[in-house]
Order: sequence, then structure tokens, then C-alpha cells
Amino acid sequence: MMLSAKKIYKKFGRLEVLRGVSMDVRKGEVVALIGSSGSGKSTFLRCLNRLETIDSGEIFIGNQCLVRMESGKPEYAQEKEARRISSKMGMVFQCFNLFPHFDVLRNLTEAPIHVLKMPREQAEAKAREMLRKVGLLDWAAHYPYQLSGGQAQRVAIARALCMNPEILCFDEPTSALDPQLTQEVLSVMRDLASENMTMLVVTHEMGFARDVASRVIYMREGVIEEEGTSEAVFSSQNPNLRKFLGNAAI
Ligand code: ADP
Ligand code: MG
Repeated sequence: MMLSAKKIYKKFGRLEVLRGVSMDVRKGEVVALIGSSGSGKSTFLRCLNRLETIDSGEIFIGNQCLVRMESGKPEYAQEKEARRISSKMGMVFQCFNLFPHFDVLRNLTEAPIHVLKMPREQAEAKAREMLRKVGLLDWAAHYPYQLSGGQAQRVAIARALCMNPEILCFDEPTSALDPQLTQEVLSVMRDLASENMTMLVVTHEMGFARDVASRVIYMREGVIEEEGTSEAVFSSQNPNLRKFLGNAAI
């Protein structure tokens, strides 16, 4: 199991955003997480990545325990250990979060050099390999402002890959992009899926979910309501899901 989340609860003030979300992602699986805006999808990813702390539940990444319940309270691994475990999970967000004052190559080598303590030469070789994978080898010396949104997102994906993640999570990676740029990013994600990269993808791209995901999970108001193959989920008679899919335009 690459990711195992058990009964995750999270509230902001009195707003219960996650109400017992459990999810397993196996090696090589591509799981699409869908649901209306406000259903808690981003919060769930942020909890996995320690950008939020959970109120209750357990999280295992690559079979290692990030947080588990101990006498009724969530107990996180020690900071150094937690950081090591979290580093096995790559994240790609809607807005690309590239360092604006670093060129593309340095955006890719910064974390491997400073977090993984990788020698610079090795980090640069890895960065070029990943840039080639996303079709941007010629852009290594450019700065983020010189890139289109689609290129910036592909750089963000390459940057995540440079950390050798065991699982890559995406939070609506194409929702800031126009249709053409969306396609170039989805194409990179399809390639990764075909190389058996383990991925958890929050997306509004129902075509991608249908074609690429090994499993689709529908979340609503902080609860998983439906889960299964894309065929099963997209033909589900769950009225909430039907309404959501009707609005999402497959
Ligand atoms: P989704 O990604 O599915 O659109 P989110 O996880 O972003 O949903 O948000 C779920 C709910 O939690 C929303 O009602 C949102 O306003 C609320 N929320 C998210 N983050 C915070 C926060 N830091 N403080 C207060 N409320 C938040
Ligand atoms: Mg969101």
C-alpha cells in the first residue's frame, strides 16, 4: 500500500470538513478524487501533506506511519521522521508554486540538494532527465515568468518527480489552464500513469478520470459517497453524484 488513510476527521472551527475519510492507494494505481467545490478534497490532500493537522485518524505513506491514534488522540511521527515520510509524497497544486527568482533547472535541483543532500551534479542530471520526460529540456535556463501556464505546470510535475516520490498527488492541476494547455499537462500525466506511477488526482477532468483512473472516488460534504472503477462510478445512480456529473459535463 502506497497510501493508507484511516477515518480522517478535520474541522475548521465548527465546520466539519472531513468526517471519517478512509482511503487506500496501492502501488501503480491512479485514483481520481472528484466532488463539488467545498467537499473537502483539498483539505484531505493538505492533511496528507502535513499542511493541515488532523483532528483524528491515521495516515501511512509507503507503509510508514505519519500519524496514528494514541489514547484517543492523533500522534504524529517526530518532525525529522515526519519530514522524511512526507518527502515520499510529491504534490502538484493548481498554482504552480515555482520559485520566481530561480531558473527552471534550479527550481528542480533546490529540494534534492538541500533536502535529500544529493550532490549538485547528480541533482542536475536528474533534473534534466525529468525535464526531458515532460518535454521541456530546452527550457532549463528560462525563468518561470517566461513559461506558459501549461509549461509551468509541467515544470512543477518535473520538480515533484526529482524527489523520487513513491506517490504523486495532484490538486486540480489543470483548473487554471485553458483547454489546449490542459491537454499538454494531462498528456504528461497519462505518460506517468502508463509508467505505473502511483497517483492520487483531484480533478474536474472527467474524461481523464474515465480514461486513466484505475479507481474513482466521489467525495461529498467530507464523506466518501461512492468508490469504484470509473465505469461503476460514472454509471452510479447515486442522485448526488448524478447531479454533480451533470454539472461537470463529461
Ligand atoms: P474542495 O477542495 O473539495 O473544494 P476544500 O477542502 O478546499 O474543498 O474546502 C472544504 C471546506 O473547508 C470549505 O467549506 C472551505 O471553505 C473550508 N476550509 C478549507 N480550508 C479552510 C481553512 N483553512 N479555514 C477555514 N475553512 C476552511
Ligand atoms: Mg480544492
